[in-house]
Amino acid sequence: MPDIDPRSTRRAVLKTAAATAIVSAVPAAIAQPLLSSPGSALMPKGGKRRVVILGGGWGGLTTARHLRDTAPDLEVVLLERNPLFWSCPLSNKWLIDIVDTSTLVHSYTGAAQRFGYTYVQTEVTEIDRSQRRVHTAQGYLDYDWLVVAAGIRVAYEPWFGNDRKAIDHTRANYASAYVPSAEHIALKQKIQAFKGGTFVMTLPPPPHRCPPSPYERACMIAAHFKRNKIPAKLLILDPKPRIAPIGLGYRKAFEELYPDIITHVPNAGVKELDPFKRVVKTAAGDVAFDDAIFMGHHQAADLVWKLGAIGKTAEGKPNNWAAVHPEFYNLPDDPQTFVIGDSVGAVSPQFGHYPKSGHVANRMGASVARFIGRQAKGQALEPELIDNLCYMLVNTEPREAISVQFDYAKGADGVLVQTQVDDHERRAELWDEDLRWYGLKIKDMISG
Ligand SMILES: Cc1cc2nc3c(=O)[nH]c(=O)nc-3n(C[C@H](O)[C@H](O)[C@H](O)COP(=O)(O)OP(=O)(O)OC[C@H]3O[C@@H](n4cnc5c(N)ncnc54)[C@H](O)[C@@H]3O)c2cc1C
Repeated sequence: MPDIDPRSTRRAVLKTAAATAIVSAVPAAIAQPLLSSPGSALMPKGGKRRVVILGGGWGGLTTARHLRDTAPDLEVVLLERNPLFWSCPLSNKWLIDIVDTSTLVHSYTGAAQRFGYTYVQTEVTEIDRSQRRVHTAQGYLDYDWLVVAAGIRVAYEPWFGNDRKAIDHTRANYASAYVPSAEHIALKQKIQAFKGGTFVMTLPPPPHRCPPSPYERACMIAAHFKRNKIPAKLLILDPKPRIAPIGLGYRKAFEELYPDIITHVPNAGVKELDPFKRVVKTAAGDVAFDDAIFMGHHQAADLVWKLGAIGKTAEGKPNNWAAVHPEFYNLPDDPQTFVIGDSVGAVSPQFGHYPKSGHVANRMGASVARFIGRQAKGQALEPELIDNLCYMLVNTEPREAISVQFDYAKGADGVLVQTQVDDHERRAELWDEDLRWYGLKIKDMISG
């Protein structure tokens, strides 16, 4: 059990989120991308200064929504490749029909109209910082402020080098569904079609997107196997020495609810994978599998690499994550270009990266909207502390969750410090809180 009461802090977070969910209905333009071509201006700039947001996930949608309140005089354009918003939070539950598709999927055009910004469905192809210009599949746009909220990329190169055949085969057959895409649908079909045998799931080496969620996914798949009496073993191959976060809560769930199904293997980083012969070699031994989910290495999204914003290791090599100001998320040499969400690199010598969560991306998005509002008025920026909160469903009959909460403060030496509270005791109340948390976030980002 936690040594401080997480209820009170959690309630405070939910109350704050509810208080900020203000509806602002300004008519928006929906651009007509088919009339444009890559070499022409997609949207010529008018008299207003413009914010361009790259990526309409948890971070980008939040920034776009809040800019209407914080900077009403600026034009806001959101560029997103997908035609619909697809939430990763709650997607593990969707895999086994605990929630339905309408809970996860939402309209971009509806959000843009409601909050008064322009959404363009397009692939962003290049960023030209010297000209303050973004290139897309349908034309280019000039900007005054740029917010890159493009999430992560899943890299299989650390396992396969440039072996495209192995990479393509792994993506096509064993994709992880860790980015908003059709991979979720393929994974759901795979789980439902599985008739029995050894099902393997690897975790990426940290830092990675939503650290507790792979274990939740294991619980959901195991619950499906249990309910449908599928003779299957689920092996979690974990590069870490122990389950984290909420290690005890997860261990109890594995042992008490799924003892004949889930085996957690620690120190099992992938050394070699043969996706054709279906054998994975790990530091903890070799495993032959019938089906699998292979989570490649997580890195900052491609657009952050194109932005030239990847940090460096002590040896001068790319460290795979965006180097930004730890409190304002702007690039060191550009106060008006921000990177937010999962792409952000280490922000503190005490804890390294913020947890890569929708909650954190949402908090960063709201902060950056306020920062841009202040910059637009010529005011100095004021740092804002954020937090993180994640609920993870471990039992389906009855529905019970565990949770983890992170709070941040400024230490005496000026560096950010983290406090973590794992709530290991699974119970129905936390599942109710999860649904409430999610509803408030969707309201904040999309439905108003
Ligand atoms: C299974 C699972 C469960 C999770 N559960 C939780 C949870 O319970 N709570 C929680 O807080 N977090 C959870 N997360 C984590 C959460 O989904 C991420 O942390 C969050 O989505 C990060 O937000 P983001 O804005 O950085 O990236 P994203 O939400 O991924 O958004 C990035 C967007 O950029 C777009 N994009 C990227 N490149 C381009 C381009 N070139 N052109 C156009 N568009 C582009 C993408 O299509 C995408 O829509 C979970 C994640 C997973 C996978």
